[in-house]
Amino acid sequence: MVSVRNPPRYVCVIGAGPSGLVAARELKKEGHKVVVMEQNHDVGGQWLYDPNVEDQDPHSSVYESLRLTSPREVIGFTDFPFLIKKGRDTRRFPGHSELLLYLKDFCEFFGLREMIRFNTKVDYVGMLEDGGFGKDLIWVVKSKAKDSDKVTSEVFDAVVVATGQYSHPRLPSIKGMDTWKRKQMHSHLYRVPEPFRNQVVVVVGNSVSGQDISMELVNVAKEIHLSSKSLPVSEGVLKVISKHDNLHLHPTIESLHEDGHVVFVDGSWLTADTIIYCTGYSYSFPYLDTKGIVSIDDDRVGPLYEHTFPPNLAPSLSFIGIPRKIIGYPFFESQAIWIAQLLSGKRSLPSRDEMMKSIQDFYQSREAAGIPKHYTHDIADFEYCDKYGDYVGFPRIEQWRKDLGLSALMNADVNLETYRDSYNDEELLQVAYQSPHFTQFDAKAFPSL
Ligand SMILES: Cc1cc2nc3c(=O)[nH]c(=O)nc-3n(C[C@H](O)[C@H](O)[C@H](O)COP(=O)(O)OP(=O)(O)OC[C@H]3O[C@@H](n4cnc5c(N)ncnc54)[C@H](O)[C@@H]3O)c2cc1C
Repeated sequence: MVSVRNPPRYVCVIGAGPSGLVAARELKKEGHKVVVMEQNHDVGGQWLYDPNVEDQDPHSSVYESLRLTSPREVIGFTDFPFLIKKGRDTRRFPGHSELLLYLKDFCEFFGLREMIRFNTKVDYVGMLEDGGFGKDLIWVVKSKAKDSDKVTSEVFDAVVVATGQYSHPRLPSIKGMDTWKRKQMHSHLYRVPEPFRNQVVVVVGNSVSGQDISMELVNVAKEIHLSSKSLPVSEGVLKVISKHDNLHLHPTIESLHEDGHVVFVDGSWLTADTIIYCTGYSYSFPYLDTKGIVSIDDDRVGPLYEHTFPPNLAPSLSFIGIPRKIIGYPFFESQAIWIAQLLSGKRSLPSRDEMMKSIQDFYQSREAAGIPKHYTHDIADFEYCDKYGDYVGFPRIEQWRKDLGLSALMNADVNLETYRDSYNDEELLQVAYQSPHFTQFDAKAFPSL
């Protein structure tokens, strides 16, 4: 796997969220010259909360009350634990702004800001020359500074796509949706419950956002009707419903009608003021022109070797942050290391044919297991993350991290309303705090933290 070292590459990372930040750090560590282009005014990606949903389409889908779904110990990059800081949000499942502060600390600690061009939106990424496998590709990146029409065009040896996956709503297709005259919106634009005061609201989708939003609407809205694709729902959801007279459970919607009627597949119906679709997000890279080499088909971004490298364009084009249902930050870190080391020639990829075969085998195994294409990048498998890390000698996920993550999931399943404040994992927590992840970090080396 170890081969001749290449000269440092000039690399454009698109996005300064968690994926882009760790990519910048690893590329820098490996000696590459890096420019991070970030459309927003600061780092953080999804965690840069944006209350303004009136006259723009924000990147962030985070709502004001959002708290993390996993405990903070699980989240941190391997060499930068998400520590409790005096005077900040010290909860184990903190609110979104604490994760933003963690990412800012990460940025400061590793000196990443100087690599980032803020308020710079990438509008186009394409190849300067049509390369073949093994040829050195050159990439053109066109960007615009905020409030300017001037397009800046630059060339790079490599581009790392790190623009996230939770900004483009995925909407269901429901009969009558186009003609329904009342308010319909996606959770992407939901921020606070107040606009729904005294309303009858249908919340579509019983995943994290659907549950969180339903639970905060119970104090404000007249009625909340949670429509769930999969029934029966968890014990946690049932407990919440039994506690609140104005929260009701329904199956999927059959049709919507001009007079405000919402009809469910079991024949029940009601008249609603608003429908909030908490139905997830689709991948979208509107700026990326690969001449059809990489495409998105029903939320399958492909072909991508190990969800990261398009065999025909790798390693000069790569993607970080495509997988879902993983412990995100350490995984992004292992992706970043692999990309950085491939570009420096420290490692090499299998042949194009081998990569294509691996992708086809993966697709076939998913199909054989009856997993719809839409879930191609849903991993939900610690072993996969370990196997992925093995490509670059990245440490396996610590047992305590897996156990704490699973413990939170199980607690949420049963105690949905309280799992972020009441838990029973003290022993696991002690194991975590005694592990090198926490003991390695010398806080004295960075007194402002
Ligand atoms: C409601 C919600 C709750 C979540 N809860 C959790 C949780 O509890 N725990 C957890 O681990 N994860 C959670 N996530 C997932 C979260 O997205 C990840 O934690 C993480 O933010 C992904 O990082 P990223 O860098 O890949 O993408 P992002 O954070 O989305 O960052 C992408 C960056 O790219 C920039 N960008 C996009 N397009 C362009 C362009 N054309 N030009 C320049 N810049 C561009 C954006 O401005 C942004 O800064 C949640 C997500 C949502 C939406």
